[in-house]
Amino acid sequence: MVEKQLRRRGIRDASVLEAMSEIPREEFIPAEARLFAYSDDPVAIGFGQTISQPYMTALMAEVLELTGTETVLEVGAGCGYASAVLGRLAARVMALEIVPGLAHLAEANLKRTGTGGNVEVRMGDGSVGWPEWAPYDAISVAAAAPEIPTSLLAQLRDPGRLVIPVGPRYDQELRVVTRRDRRIDYRVVTFCRFVPLRGGEGWN
Ligand code: SAH
Repeated sequence: MVEKQLRRRGIRDASVLEAMSEIPREEFIPAEARLFAYSDDPVAIGFGQTISQPYMTALMAEVLELTGTETVLEVGAGCGYASAVLGRLAARVMALEIVPGLAHLAEANLKRTGTGGNVEVRMGDGSVGWPEWAPYDAISVAAAAPEIPTSLLAQLRDPGRLVIPVGPRYDQELRVVTRRDRRIDYRVVTFCRFVPLRGGEGWN
């Protein structure tokens, strides 16, 4: 997976490659889908949701340019795999998941694999962020929004980075938003298709 799907497609951050080669991805995938744990696609994790394609998880982690000191907000923990990856790259991860069954699953997976020591999972609507721990050095949103939720921008530190798929239901662009010196800029890194961001500043 790391060689063919990540390195060959341009993922260069050594800490991202290392984290993804060491974290047991199959442990985050339901038993009946384990065969597909390392396939080059999203995989169903129950509740109508998916674990992202490995390349997408790697790309989203890489563009945040984490150095190990950051507090990261993750919106859409799903099965907890990306939370584990981000946990390896940052000081701590605050992960929100709107589906109660998945919030529990993420927590159980992180615990069982010993990857959750610095990850806090909570059930909640991440489209409005998690103000208690704001501002965040980095924010990773794993579900697609029609626009960048203003609450998330408000909870992003200066300097800080946010990655989010933005666009209509079935066709989005992955944006990396950079806040620096009170300026906000963004660039598009790829095109993608994510599950919709639900909740107050999502699709409802
Ligand atoms: N991070 C996961 C990807 C999960 S898919 C991985 O490791 O691959 C996106 C997740 O976002 C789904 O589990 C979905 O339930 C969740 N989600 C959607 N809207 C949300 C919201 N408003 N707040 C929190 N989670 C949300």
